Amino acid sequence: MDTISIVGGGPAGLRCAELLAESGFDVSVFEEHPVIGKPEKCAGLVSRSGLEELGIKPGGSLVNEIKGAKIFSPGGESLTVERKETAAYVIDRFEFDQMLFKKAREKGAAVYNESKLIDLRGNGLFMEIKGHGEMRRSKITVGADGANSMVRHSAFGEKPEQKDKFVHACQTRATGKFDRHLVEVHFGSFAPGFFAWVIPESATVARIGTGVPMGGNPAEQLNAFIKQKNIGAKGSGKISALIPIGPPLKETATGNVMLLGDAAWHTKATTGGGIVFGLKAANACANTIIGNMKNRSPLSDYEKNLRGINRELALHWRICRYARDMQPAQMDALFRKAKKAGIERFLQEHGDMDNPGKFMRKMMLKPSMWSLLPAALRMI
Ligand SMILES: Cc1cc2nc3c(=O)[nH]c(=O)nc-3n(C[C@H](O)[C@H](O)[C@H](O)COP(=O)(O)OP(=O)(O)OC[C@H]3O[C@@H](n4cnc5c(N)ncnc54)[C@H](O)[C@@H]3O)c2cc1C
Repeated sequence: MDTISIVGGGPAGLRCAELLAESGFDVSVFEEHPVIGKPEKCAGLVSRSGLEELGIKPGGSLVNEIKGAKIFSPGGESLTVERKETAAYVIDRFEFDQMLFKKAREKGAAVYNESKLIDLRGNGLFMEIKGHGEMRRSKITVGADGANSMVRHSAFGEKPEQKDKFVHACQTRATGKFDRHLVEVHFGSFAPGFFAWVIPESATVARIGTGVPMGGNPAEQLNAFIKQKNIGAKGSGKISALIPIGPPLKETATGNVMLLGDAAWHTKATTGGGIVFGLKAANACANTIIGNMKNRSPLSDYEKNLRGINRELALHWRICRYARDMQPAQMDALFRKAKKAGIERFLQEHGDMDNPGKFMRKMMLKPSMWSLLPAALRMI
């Protein structure tokens, strides 16, 4: 019998394993792929403040430092927000995941590669381990197995309202000419309901991607974006994967099973970013398990421990829905209005990639921003 089994060796699962092993618990991570961090499917943009709050340094995974963003409306209106200091990091996801893997192993977690969960029944995990079927038992199982979580399907069932709460994303690594300290965000027909991004690794290499609703063709839309914007970039290879875009799951613990990270929609619906919030949720998940093992507190405390995280994620979802429902001309007009009200300067001083709640509260206190309050309130 394993004490704690974590399905999925991504950032959320590995971080949770590290924290539990550090507290002296017997924890095993099961990852279906042969190498942690591969295949890569991420743009690797993380807020500096988010990592600092978690006490994680990007270390050898650091590729580039970002100071701000240029945001383009469908009609080509633009807002530029640039800080003097670094606001975000571009990381190499393979190196980052490897770093978390090594930390988890150093603390005593067992990490099994080529170990795929096939089905979950109560405390029984039906696994395929290096090509062979095996049945394992576990006191507590954490599903950190990504957007298509098998743990979620098996233990919680798929709710019809969750079906369309994904964006299909496609990304390429391209050479061209880029502003190395600014990311670009483009709204337009090439990314209906979401956006396209340009995230520079350097002045000559960038990660360029688009997200489209389920059923769309993100690779075609990515080509359309590169052509339409005349980015002049030459892509090499494409990756494509789902990003959970929706409200955070209400039910994340049932019986002896918990959900974590992308499996539980711990992603910012505004940007699709899930690294920082997945890591934050890993803290909440590990603390809940520690409380359960030491003091017999129920695993359902997880939802209480996630409350602060979920509040911010719910706000991201409301902002995302508001932007998604806007007509292109309305968005152009909002960009013009925001620019006139001085939003660029305001975001430079108070913008927060992760916590829109903080930013909204500051907005209420600033008379120059009040013309944007009706839009802000409609979002909320
Ligand atoms: C194109 C793209 C760009 C993105 N860009 C960013 C970005 O710039 N910044 C950001 O913060 N986020 C970004 N994201 C989101 C980010 O990648 C995820 O939020 C993050 O990886 C979630 O971490 P996780 O540990 O929850 O899940 P994952 O990283 O998905 O890890 C889940 C792991 O579980 C394993 N697994 C799945 N099923 C099983 C099974 N049955 N048995 C065993 N193992 C299994 C998988 O192989 C995987 O290793 C992007 C996503 C995409 C698709």
